[in-house]
Amino acid sequence: MELNLDLSRELVNFENKEKQYTIPIFIPHKGCPNSCVFCNQKKISGQTKDVTVEDVDNIIKEYLNYYDKTDKKIEVAFFGGSFTGIDKKLQEAYLKVAYKYIESKHIDSIRISTRPDYINDEILKLLSKYRVETIELGVQSMDKDVLNASKRGHSDKDVIYASNLINKYNIRLGHQVMIGLPESNLQKEVYTIKECLKLKPKQLRIYPVYVIDESELYNMYEKNIYVPLTIKDAVKRCIAVIHECQKEDVSIIRLGLQSTDEITCNNSKIVGPISDNLAEYVIAGIIREKIDKILDEINIEGKELIIHVLPKYISTTIGPKKINKIYFENKYNIKFKVKGEI
Ligand code: SF4
Repeated sequence: MELNLDLSRELVNFENKEKQYTIPIFIPHKGCPNSCVFCNQKKISGQTKDVTVEDVDNIIKEYLNYYDKTDKKIEVAFFGGSFTGIDKKLQEAYLKVAYKYIESKHIDSIRISTRPDYINDEILKLLSKYRVETIELGVQSMDKDVLNASKRGHSDKDVIYASNLINKYNIRLGHQVMIGLPESNLQKEVYTIKECLKLKPKQLRIYPVYVIDESELYNMYEKNIYVPLTIKDAVKRCIAVIHECQKEDVSIIRLGLQSTDEITCNNSKIVGPISDNLAEYVIAGIIREKIDKILDEINIEGKELIIHVLPKYISTTIGPKKINKIYFENKYNIKFKVKGEI
């Protein structure tokens, strides 16, 4: 039996990623007054040196040696979780350096990430002045109990206020959400995404929680108060969340931890759903669900199944470590093949 598989609807949120180079500048938010349980900021504070304005200039110059602007757009991204929480004069000094490269047409845009409670008119006026194109808000959850248990120090209302204000300033809105926070579950994560989507973010980052040494969560894990997600659970929850996005115009630009956002993993002990290719497992799971629905309605036992997909989806249809091939061959007692044509 042969089957043409159109995955355009299921994987639409992974398709419209703008191709661009990123110049990452990690600004550790020293002395952050918050104490999110998953953060090892205290560790960062003691060990990371300040990033000077000259450092920012040098980092941009260095990356520009490697990037070919004729090829893709170039974005300077200030990572570190709470850019707008740092001293205003220093923020402006950093932005001025990056803006100089926009004016000279060496880079195209600036992105920052920050907390929802660090957004107001004054801050947005400053960011607009330096043509910051994208603001990513660390939403993490829209469930009150999860926010409290994670000691985020902001509310769901802060997320709504900040998102609406960013949209009003015509700055591209991004949301970061976490999967597997204390007190969270699949239903609360689906709720979070639904609430986020109402605020019309253009892009999403979805991070399963990693438990990092010297964070409060690590202590909770050692005392058995917090149990990290398994990779299987993280994949299941990510799939549920992504289903909610499929009808919306939002790009999923990251699935899995980026160590330069909010926390650092350097030299740390880490526990949790650690996987270099979590996104591949999630996409393979979405494809598996689609094929499963079709096969459940026909009798295919003992036959050969050839799935035709666009060439770019061959490996994810088979799945990492052939997970889908093994699943279908065992479940339906078939020979499972994938071809790159449709
Ligand atoms: S995650 Fe961000 S806001 Fe929370 S404590 Fe760490 S640096 Fe501060």
